[in-house]
Amino acid sequence: MSALEDLRRKIVLCKKCDLGSIGSRVVPGEGSVYPQIMIVGEAPGVNEEKVGRPFVGRGGKLLRNSLEKFGIRNVYITNVVKHRPPKNRKPKKEEISACSAFLEFEINAIKPRVILALGRTASEYFGVKSRLSEANGKVFIVNGIKVIACYHPAAVLRNVNLRDEFNRAIKQAKSFI
Ligand code: SF4
Repeated sequence: MSALEDLRRKIVLCKKCDLGSIGSRVVPGEGSVYPQIMIVGEAPGVNEEKVGRPFVGRGGKLLRNSLEKFGIRNVYITNVVKHRPPKNRKPKKEEISACSAFLEFEINAIKPRVILALGRTASEYFGVKSRLSEANGKVFIVNGIKVIACYHPAAVLRNVNLRDEFNRAIKQAKSFI
């Protein structure tokens, strides 16, 4: 069994924080183990929870269309927390902290050169302190990895004016591949 398959098994059984005990379906990361980029979002949404896969709803479609537009086809995609918080609220600090070992493991196993951090929660996870209106498209070096802060596709769905900025961040990621 590969390290990531083993991790997936651990994630499916995990109850390290309250999110694992509320009956929601877990959504582990998935994708290439040698990706062009690694993508990290906040948490699964309702569509992701239904099928147990990350970024499969409207936001995921928007993301995949933009990746395709820039010729990025080979990705590993995951979230900061692997269970959906109730009513899609932001994950709490203690939930992020409980789940962080899984994301760390994914990063260590995959060793990406570039990470696209989608949304405030994922950007903050990598130490980005400024608002996304300032940080979007900027590169932060975290443990030798280029982390690019980017608006979350859900935010772009709510405000189409962010579309160009969103694409600018993805283009930035592409420039490092
Ligand atoms: S959110 Fe993460 S830490 Fe919490 S129960 Fe789910 S997998 Fe475990």
